[in-house]
Amino acid sequence: MATTHAAVGLLFALPLTVVAPELAPIAALAAIAGGIFPDLDLVAGVHRRSLHFPDYYWLGAVPALAAAAIAPSPETVAVAWFLLSAAVHSVSDAFGAGTEARPWERTSAEAVYLHSRSRWIAPRYWVRYDGAPEDYLLTVCLLAPGLVAFGPAVRRVAIVLIVVGGAYTLVRKRLPAVEERLL
Ligand SMILES: [Zn+2]
Repeated sequence: MATTHAAVGLLFALPLTVVAPELAPIAALAAIAGGIFPDLDLVAGVHRRSLHFPDYYWLGAVPALAAAAIAPSPETVAVAWFLLSAAVHSVSDAFGAGTEARPWERTSAEAVYLHSRSRWIAPRYWVRYDGAPEDYLLTVCLLAPGLVAFGPAVRRVAIVLIVVGGAYTLVRKRLPAVEERLL
């Protein structure tokens, strides 16, 4: 789920607390934003396709990381960690379930769209479905460094993500019925 992707992104900002501590909070916040960003295609477009690029995000992320290494600044670091996190999010959606409304039923073979090959990648189910208890465990464990390592702004965002992820996990299996009633 989005909070887990944000948490994974935050982990990638952790090395900066050692090598460039003044840039670590901006990297963490950009990585959290980049970890959530692809899932905005839930609202508009085709989910796991319109804003998910398991391949093409890297074409931006790799040069952006190089630029941040050569000329470290809040701007270069923010762009690099945003793109890195969006790239990792898009790839790691393949480790979960498919795009169906009830992913625990495993009826969809479409985990995330690979634009360069014009085809869907099949789900691996390492995490059974978004909002599964193990998904929330990942959110909490991976966000833990965000509570202590980056200062107050990142801590506040990490707490919000832990709360939101917990609430989503609690109601996840009831969401499809609610959605059907609303639509
Ligand atoms: Zn996604």
